[in-house]
Amino acid sequence: MTHSSSIPSIKLLIDGQFVESTTTQWRDVVNPATQQVLARVPFATEAEMHAAVASAREAFKSWRRTPIGARARIFLRYQQLIREHLKELAAILSAEQGKTLADAEGDVLRGLEVVEHAAGIGNLQLGELANNVAAGVDTYTLLQPLGVCAGITPFNFPAMIPLWMFPMAIATGNTFVLKPSEQDPMVTMRLVELALEAGIPPGVLNVVHGGAEAVNLLCDHPDIKAISFVGSTRVGSHVYQRASQAGKRVQCMMGAKNHAIVLPDAHKEQTLANLAGAAFGAAGQRCMAISVAILVGAARAWLPELVEKARTLKVGAGSEPGTDVGPLISRTARERVEGLIARGAAEGAELLLDGRHPQVSGYADGNFVGPTLFSGVTADMSIYREEIFGPVLCVMQAETLDEAIAIVNANPHGNGTALFTRSGAAARHFQEEIDVGQVGINVPIPVPVPIFSFTGSRASKLGDLGPYGKQVVQFYTQTKTVTARWFDENEVGGPVNTTITLK
Ligand code: NAD
Repeated sequence: MTHSSSIPSIKLLIDGQFVESTTTQWRDVVNPATQQVLARVPFATEAEMHAAVASAREAFKSWRRTPIGARARIFLRYQQLIREHLKELAAILSAEQGKTLADAEGDVLRGLEVVEHAAGIGNLQLGELANNVAAGVDTYTLLQPLGVCAGITPFNFPAMIPLWMFPMAIATGNTFVLKPSEQDPMVTMRLVELALEAGIPPGVLNVVHGGAEAVNLLCDHPDIKAISFVGSTRVGSHVYQRASQAGKRVQCMMGAKNHAIVLPDAHKEQTLANLAGAAFGAAGQRCMAISVAILVGAARAWLPELVEKARTLKVGAGSEPGTDVGPLISRTARERVEGLIARGAAEGAELLLDGRHPQVSGYADGNFVGPTLFSGVTADMSIYREEIFGPVLCVMQAETLDEAIAIVNANPHGNGTALFTRSGAAARHFQEEIDVGQVGINVPIPVPVPIFSFTGSRASKLGDLGPYGKQVVQFYTQTKTVTARWFDENEVGGPVNTTITLK
């Protein structure tokens, strides 16, 4: 690819310096509403990748000993800087990703919550102590950092997901190599600049750019101890296998098919508004988007109103006031979603609302697909089996709550689900019987706040521990258990274990 020199280039961050890559391989970062090239992103060379890991490895030697209060204070400053730059961050994000400005602010704010949590690391990275496990013997645990950790992020939350990763990894005493999505790395880089301004020392956070080759190198690199990945199931399964084989701790948060079940006793207006927002907001490019609605019993009669609600949403550029549904990230993504809509119709689903090729005045080149709604969807159809990752809602029907639960539990994915009802008994039954890791009750997108953890399950997740919250403190640390005995000057002691049995 040849480039005009007026297009800014995205830098690598190695050892505290933002540097221009020496690579010959570049990719354009494109505004998905206009196709304007905003920047070019390098695919880092092998030498640059190794330099980033080496810098993180060197920095770990001192960072692991940094007092917990000093680490916490960096994140206190960082959360303040993110707050001060919220509008700027949202504008960068919206331009490169396509989200509305309100959604872009939400993307930053959800990540900010993790930074706030990282500022409380003093209360999180605590061991346990049992006094007198034998006479004069105490056992206690230390939660020690692992070393160099790496994070690989997707395009759909370019602020929140990097912030799921490096703040908690660094707050727990690790050093980090981040590989952002090559489709929209600009807001991530601005967040990284602010992290350095907040006081993260050289080498503690490094950033490399690239695609499959960069990711494979991180998976194989012997100096990297843990990898956190968020992205598609196809890539996540590969990363999990490759990095596990190389002996690393790995967590992969992956694709989804999230169902909402609607009972006839639900609050109708609220439910329909929630469904429309959760299915079509952010153009359906959320791993927790509702992509299947199961209308139960008399709620089946609500279908025409749901279609009308979807029809009223405004498709447009994220920067335009009043937009509900922005563009898809790329032309390729748009063509893929349009292809799946065509397949849904060909496989016999009823296309009640076709969002292909909407007219968006002033943005003829945008990657737009409007809200699309199918009914009569069955489990064997492509639109049900594949994650569409666009503004497409599949509607199914069931006679009873148990029948609907059986449909959800038979789907391999387990990222999120929601039930709409006014019945506490139905909600309790659902909560107990549903086999999905994140459950909403009259809450369509139940992403837990960072005092909990993100707990997608089954095919949506590989690895035991989630990417933020309490679980990630475990993920980024090794528990060391110390059993200690101290002798007084004149004490005559026996072996520890005989002491236990004799008393
Ligand atoms: P993706 O899998 O295409 O890309 C994710 C990362 O992997 C990127 O950094 C990319 O550069 C890299 N990558 C791409 N191809 C690769 C390959 N062949 N080998 C190694 N690395 C490769 O995902 P995406 O399209 O950027 O993001 C959307 C996907 O992410 C959806 O499936 C969505 O459900 C999922 N997602 C999941 C969660 C979650 O928490 N479960 C959150 C957000 C997004």
